[in-house]
Amino acid sequence: MTQTSTSATAPTALPYLDGDVPLGTIPSADLLPVRNPANRDEVVGTVALGSADHVDRALDLAVAAAPGWAALTATARADLLRSAADALDRHDPAARAVLLTREHGKVRWESTLDVGGAAAILRYYAGLAAEFDAEVDHRNAAGTARFRRRPLGVTAVIVPWNYPVYLASLMLVPALLAGNPVVVKPSEVTPLALTETLRILAAALPPGVVTVVPGTGSVAGTALTTDRRVRAVLFTGSTATGRTIMAAAAPTLKRLGLELGGNDPALVLESAMIDDRLIDELVRGTFTSSGQVCYSVKRIYVHRSRYAELVTAYTEAADALVVGDGRDPETTIGPLTTRSQYDRVRALVAEARRHGARVRTVGRRGTTAHWERGNFLLPTVVTDAPHDIALVTEEQFGPTVPILPFDTDDEAVALANGTDYGLAASVWSADASHADTVARRIEAGSVFVNAHRLGASDLAMPFGGAKQSGLGRRHGFVAVEECSELQTIAHVVNPASLPGPTVAAPPTRPSPSGRKEQ
Ligand code: NAD
Repeated sequence: MTQTSTSATAPTALPYLDGDVPLGTIPSADLLPVRNPANRDEVVGTVALGSADHVDRALDLAVAAAPGWAALTATARADLLRSAADALDRHDPAARAVLLTREHGKVRWESTLDVGGAAAILRYYAGLAAEFDAEVDHRNAAGTARFRRRPLGVTAVIVPWNYPVYLASLMLVPALLAGNPVVVKPSEVTPLALTETLRILAAALPPGVVTVVPGTGSVAGTALTTDRRVRAVLFTGSTATGRTIMAAAAPTLKRLGLELGGNDPALVLESAMIDDRLIDELVRGTFTSSGQVCYSVKRIYVHRSRYAELVTAYTEAADALVVGDGRDPETTIGPLTTRSQYDRVRALVAEARRHGARVRTVGRRGTTAHWERGNFLLPTVVTDAPHDIALVTEEQFGPTVPILPFDTDDEAVALANGTDYGLAASVWSADASHADTVARRIEAGSVFVNAHRLGASDLAMPFGGAKQSGLGRRHGFVAVEECSELQTIAHVVNPASLPGPTVAAPPTRPSPSGRKEQ
């Protein structure tokens, strides 16, 4: 690790605990440059790698904030969440979107969507406060009871690098509405726009309700997932890390919400209408963000009778993509965010080639791309591949897709389900009833018909993984329910109605005359 000089304008992602920790208090060995993946030279900012001590201090603040935050009604908390959304709108979201493009590589419309997600999600969940505050009455022979929701307590939110602001908000905001203070650990890869966002958001809330500790998974992440004071961990990231977190959380039986990896299949049925609209949707579903979306199309299965037609039309359409610097308006897809992901995707394609697959590289290099320096990969379409190569069986998270034929619906469903993943899937057909029948057989948290891309799952549509793609659901009220637990308060006024014989004789008291009263 090396310390890097930061320019006057370069933002820093510091561990901040109820105010910023001065840069000077972080040892230089724990400061890392965040570089632009479009050229790998430009230092966009500095991330401070938070220590276990920073986590400890953040948790102290969260524990202190917990009773006050929990004591408010959700309706009162919602007013503060709306103020936080207004503050985010006032504080130059466009500048944060530019910052995100520079640290992540994604194109501007995507950065705008990602950064804008924070205010949109705050307002959406603020609208669900009344549902949280509503209590359910119950009556029985013994008396009355009320069922209410109460917060879990201090919650850790651990964020991936691919959609940092949006995905952090999807975890953070339902937890806040439910009355939990939250400590957020951004990804060490893309911490800057998220930390700027949280700085503004936290200032609109009572002290200690939101704190941030950037850092590595092995240090800051482990400190959060093993600390007894943390009652719940909300995590979005890879399935491998999800398993580690589940094990770390077991000794203290923390509540877990895990949104993990996927290997999403798209099934193009014999009844599909292979027109421009279908092809455009399928290409966008595959290559948006260079395939670095949890529910990108990652495998395409096409009925054999339509295979050649689909491959030709799809490859031609993908050829229109322009790969370059995300800041350049002509760019349609940016670089891969990390060099390790770039190396991995290239290795997957090389392996496919070794197994006799046909590899077609399409699209073109944008004029401003620093091609040799950046993590740029052209879109790649792989056909005639065996079903058991890693490009088909694993999550590639890059702009490379295998297209494979099938003969029957049963075979297509078996191929779609033949994986430990189950995040999302899509079925493509001109026959809605046929598509629906196939969709219901797929083991995935979401199945889309005739689309499969960002926005296909809106904030009200429960989203999450089947099988090893996760535990629990994001979006909708279900996400708030999962950040809270039911409490039953029972007023027993007629204990005689409860089952079982009396064990104690009725009390006898001495009378004022000294004789026992009967
Ligand atoms: P990752 O698992 O490597 O890291 C995610 C976060 O976990 C980071 O903040 C990292 O520092 C932290 N972490 C790593 N090890 C940890 C540990 N031992 N304890 C605690 N925290 C730890 O994932 P990534 O590479 O940042 O993101 C890409 C992955 O995320 C892909 O698999 C993608 O499919 C998945 N993802 C899933 C969804 C979804 O909604 N299901 C959304 C986006 C991304």
